[in-house]
Amino acid sequence: MVDDEQLRSGDTNAPAGSTPSAGSEAPARTENPAEAEASHDAQAPAGTETTAGAAATAPVEEQPKTPVLGDVLLAIEELWPESLAEQWDAVGPVVGRPTAEVQKILFAVDPTADVITEAIEWGADLLVTHHPLLLKPVNSVATSSFKGDAVHRLIENGCALVTVHTNGDSAVGGVSDVLADALGLQDVRPLSPADNGLPEEGIGRVGELAVARTLGEFAEQVFSILPAVAGGVKVAGDRNGIIRSVAVCGGAGDSLFDQVRASRADVYVTADLRHHPASEAREGTVEGRPYLIDVSHFGSEWLWLTPASAALDNVLTDQGYRVEVKVSVTNTDPWDFVLTPG
Ligand SMILES: [Zn+2]
Repeated sequence: MVDDEQLRSGDTNAPAGSTPSAGSEAPARTENPAEAEASHDAQAPAGTETTAGAAATAPVEEQPKTPVLGDVLLAIEELWPESLAEQWDAVGPVVGRPTAEVQKILFAVDPTADVITEAIEWGADLLVTHHPLLLKPVNSVATSSFKGDAVHRLIENGCALVTVHTNGDSAVGGVSDVLADALGLQDVRPLSPADNGLPEEGIGRVGELAVARTLGEFAEQVFSILPAVAGGVKVAGDRNGIIRSVAVCGGAGDSLFDQVRASRADVYVTADLRHHPASEAREGTVEGRPYLIDVSHFGSEWLWLTPASAALDNVLTDQGYRVEVKVSVTNTDPWDFVLTPG
């Protein structure tokens, strides 16, 4: 397990979120949500030192090795153990031989056709995505389905595919940890602790702001750290209400309302809030809290990609391997524009 501070020190390199404009104009969709590339620092392992008087012996420098997929899978397991995944989930390798060499690794939220094209054009040997390509069992990978076509394109182009989903959510330095960190939360703890993990592992996070602020100010902060997507950010609650404690859950989080209420958070930041859970949560508030901030599912998880790719790079580098890691620049938020009153 990578040290929390190691992950948190990773620059999340969030793309410049657009500043909320006057009125309710939605931010323009960006073609390049990710400017960031977690560049590999090719640190060779320390070479052996020559001893005094052994000048004739040239120092032997151990060259970085190229890992095979099996080596990378072990590093992924170290960072995001499969035991942390939810029971309904499908994580781990999807495509690829464990003996295949891996030099280039691309990280993305979704294994969409555009992301796979990006991986192939970059020459990736491995695509690591947060969302599974094959969550439900399938009977065929015929190319007549887009999922079958994706499997074929990956295999034909020598690109492996690995899913790091709810194990990546739950782990220290996971999706919600990164979101909490980007919002400057302190004393961060899980909303729903992991059954099989450390006390700091689990789904969602709750923490405190260093300085209390209004819901309106906080919503603008949330907007500013996320990639620009068509849907923007939706808020329920009094714009002038004061926020101190914040609950977050990257991705769809409307199954955690009981835990959010128990945490007494002033506001809950998550994605994909449906009408009924959100409406009932608003009906059951105490003095208007928890307020709700509904963000892009893609955006809330995209923040994790840069520190995750840096963490995998660090683990492999520490083991004497050299790889090149990169974060996808494809915006896989499915929405293109919104219409709003005013
Ligand atoms: Zn998700």
